[in-house]
Amino acid sequence: MTQTTQAVVIGGGQAGLAAGYQLRRLGVDFVILDAQTQAGGAWRHAWDSLHLFSPAAYSSLPGRLMPIQTGEAYPAARHVVDYLTDYERRYNLPVHRPVRVEGVHRNGRLLRVEADAGTWRAEAVVSATGTWWRPFVPAVPGRSAFGGRQLHTVEYRSPRDFAGQRAIVVGGGNSGAQIAADLAYDAEPTWVTQRPPRFLADDIDGRALFDAATARRRALDEGRTDTGGVASLGDIVAVQPVRDARDAGALKASPMFVRLDRGGARWADGTRADADVIIWCTGFRPALSHLAPLGLRGQHGHIAVEGTRSVDEPRLHLLGYGDWTGPASATLIGVGRPARDAARTVADLVL
Ligand code: FAD
Repeated sequence: MTQTTQAVVIGGGQAGLAAGYQLRRLGVDFVILDAQTQAGGAWRHAWDSLHLFSPAAYSSLPGRLMPIQTGEAYPAARHVVDYLTDYERRYNLPVHRPVRVEGVHRNGRLLRVEADAGTWRAEAVVSATGTWWRPFVPAVPGRSAFGGRQLHTVEYRSPRDFAGQRAIVVGGGNSGAQIAADLAYDAEPTWVTQRPPRFLADDIDGRALFDAATARRRALDEGRTDTGGVASLGDIVAVQPVRDARDAGALKASPMFVRLDRGGARWADGTRADADVIIWCTGFRPALSHLAPLGLRGQHGHIAVEGTRSVDEPRLHLLGYGDWTGPASATLIGVGRPARDAARTVADLVL
């Protein structure tokens, strides 16, 4: 089955939906292809206690404010799933699922999108496949020798699964801090970070991160010095559970170990910790393997872009993923602007 349309959006998470909303407004004929069976993107796979680090009003896609979740200052991941489910229904976005895109190819004037459920030919493609699907685990000496269980953030659900176990949580970002805090009362977590953890001030949440990203975008737009964006503020938002665990003395970081062995981890000074489980909260890489046939991979596994548009394949846009496709592009509130810009450029091309 081959269909032809003006644009294909790959990925039906928040970034793909934001693109769809803008393409619909501009009158572009398009489809959204999403590998999941239900709406919600990565949010549907988050651990049970995950909450946003910004209030609902600061976590909205274009056109529709996220409703407040009763009793929660910071909405839970399942609330985001409900919001995205409603969003795509409300705007009647043409999401096809489950459809996994396997490759995007040049096909003369068009791009050919090959998926497990058929082939689409389009004048433009917006890739919005996120990062959750490509967990990153660093190469650490002895990793394969470790006899216990190893898992990544993407597989972590609840502290109940680790009750009484000796867990080592690796990673000094938000996921590492939150999962170490989540485990603090059920397991005996050792939290290790490559450098001392940098908590944001307790009264700072995702709103300040978004403001910093906006200031950075303005500075760059106006040719001023890069303000450093969110990284200049710290790495970890001190959300309530993190604060509680930290204040109770249950969230102390150790430096990174130098190697793993069968029974646990060993540090440079000779100390060691026995462990049943290692939880790697060590980040993600952009899920871009479907774009490999275009031969666009640049530095750090990214694709060179100007705004959201690929420099070497101007019919392709990249949305979400990280700041390299636009400041705060990988956040709910931040993806709105790059989605609008991408949709306008697509509309200019195809209408
Ligand atoms: P995703 O949600 O991953 O959606 C991508 C979609 O594309 C998925 O449905 C996927 O199945 C699909 N897909 C992938 N590959 C293919 C393919 N080949 N073919 C077809 N479909 C495909 N942001 C905030 O704004 N506030 C927060 O508080 C916040 N907290 C976060 C906490 C954690 C732990 C993490 C990891 C991120 C957080 N973020 C937060 C960042 C961001 O909002 C989320 O990562 C969000 O899920 C990114 O949305 P997305 O649409 O770019 O990607």
